Amino acid sequence: MSITLQQMRDERKALAQAITLLESSSPAHREAAEALLLEAMPHTGGALRLTISGPPGVGKSTFIEALGLTAVQAGRRVAVLAIDPSSVLGGGSILGDKTRMARLAAEERAFVRPSPSGGLLGGVAPGTHDAMLLCEAAGFDCVIIETVGVGQSEVQAAQLCDIFLLLLPPAGGDELQGIKRGIMELADVLVINKADGDLATAAAQMQAQVQSALGMLASPLPDWRVPVLKCSALHNQGLGEIWQAITTCHKRLEDSGHLAVRRRERGRDWLIVETRRQLLAALTDNPDTAAQLESMQNAVADGELPASLAARRIVEQFLLQRTKPCSPD
Ligand code: GDP
Repeated sequence: MSITLQQMRDERKALAQAITLLESSSPAHREAAEALLLEAMPHTGGALRLTISGPPGVGKSTFIEALGLTAVQAGRRVAVLAIDPSSVLGGGSILGDKTRMARLAAEERAFVRPSPSGGLLGGVAPGTHDAMLLCEAAGFDCVIIETVGVGQSEVQAAQLCDIFLLLLPPAGGDELQGIKRGIMELADVLVINKADGDLATAAAQMQAQVQSALGMLASPLPDWRVPVLKCSALHNQGLGEIWQAITTCHKRLEDSGHLAVRRRERGRDWLIVETRRQLLAALTDNPDTAAQLESMQNAVADGELPASLAARRIVEQFLLQRTKPCSPD
């Protein structure tokens, strides 16, 4: 299957197929995807890149759809790389992509792509970074990435984008405690969702709590006071103000030169994340090292070896294999 850059620009179907190539485990597909990525590279970087995270059930998909529609109305072309909780990597065709964010997906200027949630890397699917580049090359000027859960992994996911928006539920106290301080510190914009009906009062209280908690944290950007906003994604209230805050933050980043610095730094960090993932994949794809890994895991579980030593043996064995001359066959 070969797809050209022009086809991706002309029809969303071609872009979707290109992302399927990225996610494929077939070497031929991977090769085609890499060729396309290289062709796309000079045409990337033009979008506002936004990561959205929040605990399960906070309303991420409802929010992303409402925000995406707001951005489309503001004249943007919006691509959403969402997580499809119903599918696993390599599990064949992705179910549920028809129903997720259906209103946004129906917009001509939008593209919604649910990715399998299996084999997550930093709260996103392994191909998400590359998919973002393809969306940019296809002409989307706003790319929204949804991540799953709130934990250490999101620290990595935040690095994928220019702006990190954390969505919070309208209940303070324990729930707020459960959200890692590290993740709060990374947020450029904080939003309390479900500020409607019976939850409106709780949302206002949460807003005040988050605001005072933020007072103790450093802003992720100089000269940027992290806004704590409220909305009802379900009833489409407050989305305009949130979109405004996002674009203001992005403009501030661009004008101050911080955007270029952030992207460079985050690109360097992402390379390490990817290298680690690909090394581990190479290790587990190799039948010999995979078997050794299994037996070492047992040895560690049985208390026979410390994990550090077992890991060293696995790596040494792997490197040794790689340097052995290939036997003719
Ligand atoms: P996700 O798991 O974070 O993606 O959350 P969903 O978008 O699937 O939403 C989880 C539930 O919260 C659904 O039942 C939504 O209808 C509901 N929900 C989402 N946004 C709002 C909102 O603004 N107000 C209220 N009351 N419910 C909401």
